[in-house]
Amino acid sequence: MADLALPDSPDSPDVAGNGVWLHCIECGDKHPPFEEVIYTCESCGGLLEVRYEQYPTFDAFEGRGVWRYSAALPFEEGVTLPEGDTPLHRVPGLESEVGVRNLRLKHEGMNPTGSFKDRGMTVGVRVAEALGVDRLACASTGNTSAALSAYGARAGLETLVLLPAGKVAAGKIAQASLHGARILEVDGNFDACLDIVQDLADRGEAYLLNSLNPFRLEGQKTIGLEILEAFYDEEGRFPDRVILPVGNAGNTAALYKCFREMVAGGDLAPGDVPRLTGVQAEGAAPMVEAIEEGREDTRRWEDVETVATAIRIGNPVNAPKALPGIRETGGTAVAVSDSEITDAQRAIAGEGIGVEPASAASVAGLRKLRAAGEIEDGEDVVCLTTGHLLKDPDAAAAAGADPEQVGDSTEAVLAHLAGRTGLSGLLGRLGRLFG
Ligand SMILES: *Cc1c(COP(=O)(O)O)cnc(C)c1O
Ligand SMILES: [Zn+2]
Repeated sequence: MADLALPDSPDSPDVAGNGVWLHCIECGDKHPPFEEVIYTCESCGGLLEVRYEQYPTFDAFEGRGVWRYSAALPFEEGVTLPEGDTPLHRVPGLESEVGVRNLRLKHEGMNPTGSFKDRGMTVGVRVAEALGVDRLACASTGNTSAALSAYGARAGLETLVLLPAGKVAAGKIAQASLHGARILEVDGNFDACLDIVQDLADRGEAYLLNSLNPFRLEGQKTIGLEILEAFYDEEGRFPDRVILPVGNAGNTAALYKCFREMVAGGDLAPGDVPRLTGVQAEGAAPMVEAIEEGREDTRRWEDVETVATAIRIGNPVNAPKALPGIRETGGTAVAVSDSEITDAQRAIAGEGIGVEPASAASVAGLRKLRAAGEIEDGEDVVCLTTGHLLKDPDAAAAAGADPEQVGDSTEAVLAHLAGRTGLSGLLGRLGRLFG
């Protein structure tokens, strides 16, 4: 795990603002973070990563939520709703079905707008304020737009969201709409939306808050910090593996960065870093393909489709950060079918936890890797569930039991429950007419 190390100070400290600078992961150039708006390396176009003069230890963290971890963030506080502090559920039924030592679900659907995107936005919008921008924008499969709309509203900033027409779950559009974003429905997929919004950002029309923005990932790092702390508190050790759904691979990159920084700070031994395991839908699996083929970057999939609309992405922008994360931690990536995703969504719901389809991909991936013998029965596993059930009510209704029609009398209901009629709806109504 040689690549887990981070340098502990910039070669040219003059680029640092707040003890922070932007490091190009391709050419190593350093850039000042808050002097002007910058998303990618000005020298080579590579992805940028936020670097710090100092990396924290666990005892540096205090308070609650995302800003508990300000010692690992570029600011002390930000526009907050507040976010983070999500539950690390025990799921005994699923745990024994899958047959691992420990299975926990980190339910990010419990954030204020119902997905982990809130963690990125509280930090991203704080940076937008520092830069003095007046319009925020993102492309989104739904949850990013819901989060940005809420945080933009809270900060009093204009918000623009670009969505693939007809491919965003109802709850997410409703959120963006009510929080007052301008919603532009693009006749194309998410990747096309992202191309356009990147152009707009490059032309200075808006501040980009997709996960290409390195500060988003700083906020999302706190998922990893909460997992490490909570699991250690309860079990006296760190989990062996974290399994997560992968779309743009921002979260995968963020978790890898979290682990590397805790290694750099000295509180996490390289051998204790959890294996990052990414799960994609079969219809949108360029990261899985890149892992299987040993590629450095992903091939862009032009046509993507899956019930898990939040990960319906063919060109994961954070692949150059996330692929090393999967490899260096000894993890893997796997693709699951839509029916495996829906089955997992039902199984999670059977534990009382409601998640949207993309979230269930993590558990579907765990089941598949267990069946293939790639995950040992002695492992402690944390699955990330990224978004709330209510985000996609149509998918939930389709996956769940159908409502049964009954007449409007106690007798009709009792007769129906006793199963005396197959055509209960009709007979219930007849019963009412003649009873
Ligand atoms: C954004 C999102 C993902 C994908 O996360 P990436 O960081 O883009 O890989 C997965 N699930 C849900 C519910 C999301 O909103
Ligand atoms: Zn560069």
